[in-house]
Amino acid sequence: MCGEGYLFELERRGYLQAGAFVPEVVLEHPEEVTALHRQFVHAGSDVVEAFTYYAHREKLRVIGKDGILEPLNRRALEVARDVADGTGTLFAGNICNTGVYDPADPETHTAVREMFTEQVGWAAEAGVDFVIGETFRYLGEARLALEIIREAGLASVVLLVAGHEPITRDGVTMPDACSDLAARGADVVGLNCVRGPATMLPLLGPIVEAVDVPVAALPVPYRTHADQPTFHALRDPGPTALSEGLPFPTALDPFVCHRYEVADFTRRARAAGVRYFGLCCGAAPHHLRAMAEALGRTPPASRYSPDMSKHVYFGANPLVRRANQEFRSSL
Ligand SMILES: [Zn+2]
Repeated sequence: MCGEGYLFELERRGYLQAGAFVPEVVLEHPEEVTALHRQFVHAGSDVVEAFTYYAHREKLRVIGKDGILEPLNRRALEVARDVADGTGTLFAGNICNTGVYDPADPETHTAVREMFTEQVGWAAEAGVDFVIGETFRYLGEARLALEIIREAGLASVVLLVAGHEPITRDGVTMPDACSDLAARGADVVGLNCVRGPATMLPLLGPIVEAVDVPVAALPVPYRTHADQPTFHALRDPGPTALSEGLPFPTALDPFVCHRYEVADFTRRARAAGVRYFGLCCGAAPHHLRAMAEALGRTPPASRYSPDMSKHVYFGANPLVRRANQEFRSSL
């Protein structure tokens, strides 16, 4: 299990700006990143993933802060390593979609390769156990990520995005793309982000069938459905008008899955053959704990898993006052 979703959670907590979504929090408030790493481990994560998502050359160019590229990456790795060391969990590096890759333009391939090489280099120097390459919409870009991770002699988890149409932007089906990555040596392949449990689940079985390496599933915990299969596609008819009518990314709250939906997804995905679990943007520790428990685990946070038996109105325990139990239907 690997807890993710750092961007959205730290944005909600007021330490990261939505939009460019660059994790400057790593330098400005490392203690908040440390705390969230610990909370995800407490809730069941086996991996502490360095918060270097979007901490690449292109994003820092866009916000005009190229100068913090290396310090940000090194600090993120250090913060994650400290928590992994302190909790006995795995320590993972992270590279992701660049926004630069263009299948038709070989110059962009060189640029992407350079971006991945510097980030994977810093991760290798920090002593990561493996590198997660994630949120790739192009198979071509995922291949480059995998190539660079393998050149560094590191194990890899390579994750693709299944968008509105479940094919890569370079036109490959998810099973074929995952199979291609597995054949090129990826240790784990699968899907992350963008789709919620209901619209990611049907894609998983065919991927499991297509590959002989472990398959990963890290949906966003939002109630996507057949008509609106991604969190970008969700539309909220609620009372407050939204900019462009879009709840993504800062008004998705009404669509958040509750923990039991996450547990249900976990059991179904496991039955479909998924072996690497996690949650992406929007996830909070209670979701992760539900996932862990659905896998039969009892992470430290399970000590506080719900027990309504002594609730003042809903509890069935004889110590609960009867008058309050009877008042339940009038609440
Ligand atoms: Zn995500």
